[in-house]
Amino acid sequence: MATLYVVATPIGNLGDFSNRAVEILNHVDQIACEDTRTSNVLLKQYKIHKPTFSFHQHNEHQKVEHMMNLLESGLNIAIISDAGMPGISDPGFLAVRAAHQNGYRVEVIPGPDALTTALAASGLPSDRFIFEGFLPPKKGRQSRIKSISDSEITTIIYESPHKLVRFLESLHQMNSSDRWVCVARELTKKFEELNRGKLSDVLTDYKKRESIKGEIVVVIAGKNYDE
Ligand code: SAM
Repeated sequence: MATLYVVATPIGNLGDFSNRAVEILNHVDQIACEDTRTSNVLLKQYKIHKPTFSFHQHNEHQKVEHMMNLLESGLNIAIISDAGMPGISDPGFLAVRAAHQNGYRVEVIPGPDALTTALAASGLPSDRFIFEGFLPPKKGRQSRIKSISDSEITTIIYESPHKLVRFLESLHQMNSSDRWVCVARELTKKFEELNRGKLSDVLTDYKKRESIKGEIVVVIAGKNYDE
């Protein structure tokens, strides 16, 4: 039976691309990429020469149908995103759901993702956690931050560098200055940084910086946590 493979790719360090991921990408008939130009750099590096097509949030519905037709004709397909695990704040969910609903085999090739990498590095409680993904830019943003402020367990969010200070300030204003946080920036890359401490100290540090660059995950401990 044709299989849809969900293949994780590195979040910054090519060395994190698994042997099995390379093997599977060499085995499938076609590869659905979030951005074919980005993925072609990785595929070229690993000498993977398979037809690719784009599969992103603006053509996802249409491409899911295309993928189901390919599976129907017996072809094996892999989905990869620009970085990390497809379906985690990236396209993937709709295709995987459709594959299950249509009775095709789904197989995942695990690998890096930014959220568990940041959580493991944070040294903050990881026995239970909530992943909020990207917060909405405007409508509903404050209420989501309020629920993070009220949470008794660790919360993880993805944030863009230019909104980081604004996010930390909003949380700070909700009586959370003593909260333990860890800002994980550029994980697995040359300028990887873990900025861990009480929210007020971490915020002060970022406010002093001229600019903040790179990719960021924020881990926020539950409200009763202290060390
Ligand atoms: N699918 C990806 C995953 O498995 O984590 C996430 C894709 S999402 C579009 C991209 C966001 O993930 C970035 O804005 C950042 O918040 C986070 N991220 C990705 N790579 C990262 C890295 N190397 N260091 C820190 N955060 C990263």
